[in-house]
Amino acid sequence: MKKIMIYISTFLLTTGTLLCGCRTYINTPYSSAEYAMGTIVSNTIYADKNTGREISENITDELTNLENNYLSWRAGNSLISRINKTSENGSTVMPDDKASLFFRKVLELAEKSSGAFDPSIGKIIDLWGFYDNNPHLPEPALINELLPKCSYKYIKYTDSGASSSISLASDIKLDFGAVGKGIGCDSAYQILKTSGQDVCGAVISVGGSILVYGSKPDNSMWNIAVTNPRKDNDDDNNYLGILNIKDTPCFISTSGDYEKYFEKDGVRYHHIIDPKTGYPADSGLISVTIICNDGLVSDGLSTACFVLGIKDSLPLLKEYNAEAVFVSTDKKITITDGLKDIFTLKASGYITD
Ligand code: AMP
Ligand code: MG
Repeated sequence: MKKIMIYISTFLLTTGTLLCGCRTYINTPYSSAEYAMGTIVSNTIYADKNTGREISENITDELTNLENNYLSWRAGNSLISRINKTSENGSTVMPDDKASLFFRKVLELAEKSSGAFDPSIGKIIDLWGFYDNNPHLPEPALINELLPKCSYKYIKYTDSGASSSISLASDIKLDFGAVGKGIGCDSAYQILKTSGQDVCGAVISVGGSILVYGSKPDNSMWNIAVTNPRKDNDDDNNYLGILNIKDTPCFISTSGDYEKYFEKDGVRYHHIIDPKTGYPADSGLISVTIICNDGLVSDGLSTACFVLGIKDSLPLLKEYNAEAVFVSTDKKITITDGLKDIFTLKASGYITD
């Protein structure tokens, strides 16, 4: 019997096949890079090739559906576009279950972050021109005019079972850019879940948001890289560090001042706006990475915490049972307790607390 077991183990190792749960999997994942939601979507799926390809295609289709039918403010008939018209024409939008869930989570995060994350910020974002390939300093008068009108409190969401409704009580424009990719990861999770035993584990990366699902066939840790927010020259490491993940599913999102920005007179103006000032958040951070058990929340929290700064983020992280890696302007890395043992620094020039 022992001899047979040794033979089986040798066979599995030499053929690169390993056991995961009660199924057998090839230890080489199916990998693909697709384009959806305006970004690169990278999939690493431990499953047979056909299953991997099918799941990868299903994820791309669902992300395209989310973008076109729910989240885009450009697609004329998307949920967000239809809601954006409600303040002009006095209409109301009836959300389906999916949309209701987005709004419940988004409004809760806006409230809990005291408006540091505010999805009503679209018109102020437009002033900065990041989405028109024309980033520039807006006229202060325009910011001051819009600021009092932009608040999530003007998003009227009533949830009464079958007759939920959404409308805007002020001339605002919704922008779900801070949570869209996390929502994409939530959908990828639902797709992977329905595949049951056909998938051992997977990493799905939608722009700056990542889903880590299941386990690798050999049960080794998932290594998830965190982007180096200041890769100033070719010798610098691309990665700030590596998160060694064992507990899944988990969702990881990073917000940083290096993603979209321009410089004027030596000042960096980036795309994460403090809703209280209308200007790029100046909380002493250059990057925030969040890990928690929900994609939308991890994405929204990374934006909110970037605006709030370390001290004011900590109670919010507690409320969501989330963990974070903060990087300050002085290149100091602050890691919350739950991540201290699983984060390994890779880039030089940073100090950890
Ligand atoms: P992220 O990279 O996930 O932090 O999202 C940044 C994007 O979210 C920006 O490009 C804007 O579209 C939008 N955004 C910027 N600041 C905020 C904010 N304070 N609250 C909500 N959305 C924001
Ligand atoms: Mg975000």
